[in-house]
Amino acid sequence: MDGLNPDAVNARGAHFIGGRLVEDQHQMDVRRPSDNRTYGGLPVADAEMVDRAVQDSWAAFRNSNWARQAPRDRARVLRRWAELIETDVAHLAPLEAVGSTRPIRDAAAWDVPFTAEGIRFFAEFADKVGGEVAATGIDTLGMTVAEPYGVIAAIAPWNFPLVMASWKIAPALAAGNAVVLKPSELTPYSVLRLAELAIEAGMPPGIFNVVQGDGQVTGDALVRHPRVSKVTFTGSTRTGAAIMAACAQSGTKPVTLELGGKSPQLVFADAPDLDKTARKIAAAIAGNAGQVCVAGSRLIVERPVAERLMDGIASAFAALKAGPTWQAGNTLGPIIRPADAHRIDGVVQRAVEAGAKLVAGGGLAQVEGEGGFYQPTILSGVHSEMEAVRDEIFGPVLTVQAFDSEDEALSLADHPSYGLAAGVHTADIGRALRCMRRIEAGTVWINRYGRTADFVIPTGGFKRSGMGKDLGRQAYEANLRFKSVLVDFARDQ
Ligand code: NAD
Repeated sequence: MDGLNPDAVNARGAHFIGGRLVEDQHQMDVRRPSDNRTYGGLPVADAEMVDRAVQDSWAAFRNSNWARQAPRDRARVLRRWAELIETDVAHLAPLEAVGSTRPIRDAAAWDVPFTAEGIRFFAEFADKVGGEVAATGIDTLGMTVAEPYGVIAAIAPWNFPLVMASWKIAPALAAGNAVVLKPSELTPYSVLRLAELAIEAGMPPGIFNVVQGDGQVTGDALVRHPRVSKVTFTGSTRTGAAIMAACAQSGTKPVTLELGGKSPQLVFADAPDLDKTARKIAAAIAGNAGQVCVAGSRLIVERPVAERLMDGIASAFAALKAGPTWQAGNTLGPIIRPADAHRIDGVVQRAVEAGAKLVAGGGLAQVEGEGGFYQPTILSGVHSEMEAVRDEIFGPVLTVQAFDSEDEALSLADHPSYGLAAGVHTADIGRALRCMRRIEAGTVWINRYGRTADFVIPTGGFKRSGMGKDLGRQAYEANLRFKSVLVDFARDQ
């Protein structure tokens, strides 16, 4: 899909409750990241509106056949939903691209199909994960019965609005739960289309509701609602901690947290093909302008190949074209808000003042309009205590540290708090596996970086990068609770 006119894409700011859009007074202005112009308005659901959405979901969970029907029938609705999403790409992709940081070509070729495929992946689990049965004695049986929780609250971030939401809602729905989703207030519209298509696919009204609003009012009320039995969240570590505390205070609710990261990329001198590796490293930090939880933001490279690798990365950066998400051919989208582009620049400038060397980029990219774009940047001569190396920047900024031994590489890779992902690039399989075992991270990529459609392998962080998993069988099972049943059928009991 190529260029489009952003003014022709109309977004509607509403909640989605009981199978239809619910209008409410607009209290927020939603902007297009590419030019910072108004995209639409947004209501902020107060405790009363959140209660209406959750009660409606609870009623749908109790009264509809969603949880009761044969799991294969539920799976059929989910597969139909996935198909409708795919065929709606001409509508969904522009809605996503104009309102987010996702270039239109990526939104059409990746975000929309990936969302549909994720739903299909979880639909396949619906009738394949059950409980266990054990003969605990000659006249006794034990079993576990997998049951949905009821209403699950899903809270999503802005960086991949459709895909991140689908990773939360698809396993919850496939397991028979009802879901109330709160998307990010920065990217609230595309999921409303998902909700409309769910109804078209035959999902009972109320099984998937959406409430709009900010975190402090709407998100907090949703997490604390007494009818919410579980919370699944993707976003920053700071918000994740607040949500975990709210879950503890409002009924010790189980919570899945997918949080921030500061992921290292280890490159040894024997990396299979240094030029290709350079392109992989560049893509892993410039993709979505660095606004990716697993962005490979810390390059840790064996000293003899450091210069050559940085040259390769800088050339890959130079080939990117910054510009509005709706113009064909642009490969570097905007930073979510202009203020964030300036925040990123602040981190880079402070690193330079503290002695770091700018190898590439280092400033806002000049693009017509009021959006904030940032040049893909390489900072060398840094050390581990610097803010640029320690904190998640959430922008296209790569720090570079050189090493002389495997032990030094591993010690640089270790982060005091984050443990989301890591990359290891080497032709030596023994070394790759040694590093994999010693790096404390939820995902380790070897001679590659990033996901394709490999949904079967879960994703999730260690340490302060999270708790629990998205994707994989584990994400499906996390949306079920297992009831233990013990039966005694002896004649003389
Ligand atoms: P954020 O934490 O600011 O917001 C995420 C969501 O939480 C939004 O919907 C927001 O409205 C809501 N929220 C905020 N405060 C809340 C509260 N007190 N109670 C309930 N809800 C609240 O994060 P963001 O800026 O939208 O996203 C970027 C962050 O997300 C980065 O740190 C990134 O690493 C992380 N992320 C992680 C993963 C992963 O899989 N680990 C994936 C994508 C993004």
